[in-house]
Amino acid sequence: MTGQKTVPSVFINKTHIGGCDKTVQAHKDGHLQQLLAAESESYDYDLIVIGGGSGGLACSKESASLGKKVMVLDYVVPTPKGTSWGLGGTCVNVGCIPKKLMHQTALLRTALQDARSLGWEFSEQVSHNWETMKTAVNNYIGSLNWGYRVSLRNKNVNYVNAYAEFVEPHKIKATNKRGKETFYTAARFVLATGERPRYLGIPGDKEYCITSDDLFSLPYCPGKTLVVGASYVSLECGGFLAGLGLDVTIMVRSILLRGFDQEMADRAGDYMETHGVKFLRKFVPVKVEELEPGTPGRLKVTAKSTETGEIIEGEYNTVLIAVGRDACTEKIGLDKAGVKVNPKNGKIPVNDEEQTNVPHIYAIGDILEGKWELTPVAIQAGRLLARRLYSGSATKVYHSLFWPLEFTVPNRDNNRSYAKIICHKLDNERVIGFHYLGPNAGEVTQGFGAAMKCGITKEQLDTTIGIHPTCAEIFTTMEVTKSSGGDITQAGC
Ligand SMILES: Cc1cc2nc3c(=O)[nH]c(=O)nc-3n(C[C@H](O)[C@H](O)[C@H](O)COP(=O)(O)OP(=O)(O)OC[C@H]3O[C@@H](n4cnc5c(N)ncnc54)[C@H](O)[C@@H]3O)c2cc1C
Repeated sequence: MTGQKTVPSVFINKTHIGGCDKTVQAHKDGHLQQLLAAESESYDYDLIVIGGGSGGLACSKESASLGKKVMVLDYVVPTPKGTSWGLGGTCVNVGCIPKKLMHQTALLRTALQDARSLGWEFSEQVSHNWETMKTAVNNYIGSLNWGYRVSLRNKNVNYVNAYAEFVEPHKIKATNKRGKETFYTAARFVLATGERPRYLGIPGDKEYCITSDDLFSLPYCPGKTLVVGASYVSLECGGFLAGLGLDVTIMVRSILLRGFDQEMADRAGDYMETHGVKFLRKFVPVKVEELEPGTPGRLKVTAKSTETGEIIEGEYNTVLIAVGRDACTEKIGLDKAGVKVNPKNGKIPVNDEEQTNVPHIYAIGDILEGKWELTPVAIQAGRLLARRLYSGSATKVYHSLFWPLEFTVPNRDNNRSYAKIICHKLDNERVIGFHYLGPNAGEVTQGFGAAMKCGITKEQLDTTIGIHPTCAEIFTTMEVTKSSGGDITQAGC
């Protein structure tokens, strides 16, 4: 019918484009985008993103700035204890950010001890007020939640605070807090629903125990705490609670930090042990009972040895479960859209382009099969996916102002730290100049110095996964060139 005798033979909405060369040409002159845009005219949106966490926000904002009509839905199902939070996902509300702020609080206790050795004299009686810390951390998170809402509005992304589930391959149902249901359609979807903490499935776990989802906004000091699990979440939370001066025991079924270098994991364990954290190894809890309600109350934990079957009992004020996290893919109607999920772990397999088995549905972030569960990974995946879908052009990046996390709560020097790189345009944007005004400048510069010696380019910096939350990660996300005169202040994390 077309007269074309070769493959590929490309059609869009019944319009014949041609073979490979003609398709590439159509992409270059914009004709292809026009035809694809026409394809999505019959839908409410070009793109609907389910989940407003690290990945979902990055993808929705980038897509909107490339001229697409975008909606993002974010809804937090409260924990069994009733805890919930605002827009921004795990990292901002119950992950990286509050964790590092509480870790920072614990470090200050060490700094106080160090200070005495260096001549600072102050009362022997130094105490920590959990409520003050919690309020300060939560206020900071509240400001980030607000910042995200504002930036979505500024980028013309329609944000809806509702739980989304597929009812058809191109249609979702959104249910808000009051139970009101609304239906939306889109040409494409991005799944970015993240993960939530796993429970033990033993008597008393959901009634009496908490998870990291509750810890960072716990209204009272947890007191004597049993942390169950050997994940990084477990060790980090146990570490900062002990650093605040609490009596902390970590119950470990087998090894610390499965999947990590075991020499480093054991060294981390030894270090924690010498700094006051107790470990109960080769035990699993079998039952948690309440001895006395309160804030905190008293709990009895019965545990069993994984080697001898011995039963032991212990009394704690708080039991924090940190035994892993499950992908939020079970209740979002993926069967109605035909998206395949690994039945063993609920994770979604995707190809190199983050595309699921259903071509118009993509997935990013923690829900992906076999990918790292880290904020900068989710952010980068979201941004790059949007660019692949809607543009194909690369952005030039040179400088940025930023606000170190350490400065946020004490309210020090908002957006005064500054990062700048100079790239050689005619030499593949090789980085030839590096400037940094911020905390730990020597440490930061030393690492990048080695990279520059090896000839690092801007593109390589952009594809480097940041370590979050740090100051140095700013160099992996800089987007504004000096000559553009664009705004270089940072709004969120
Ligand atoms: C305690 C802790 C500490 C961590 N520390 C670090 C760290 O130091 N550095 C680091 O890089 N990473 C850290 N992480 C990991 C990091 O938080 C995650 O990798 C990152 O948040 C994943 O982003 P995401 O977009 O995949 O999902 P998320 O950020 O989890 O966002 C998913 C969002 O989707 C919402 N949602 C789910 N289902 C629906 C639905 N059906 N409808 C609407 N909304 C829905 C969720 O409520 C959530 O808001 C930490 C995690 C934890 C738990």
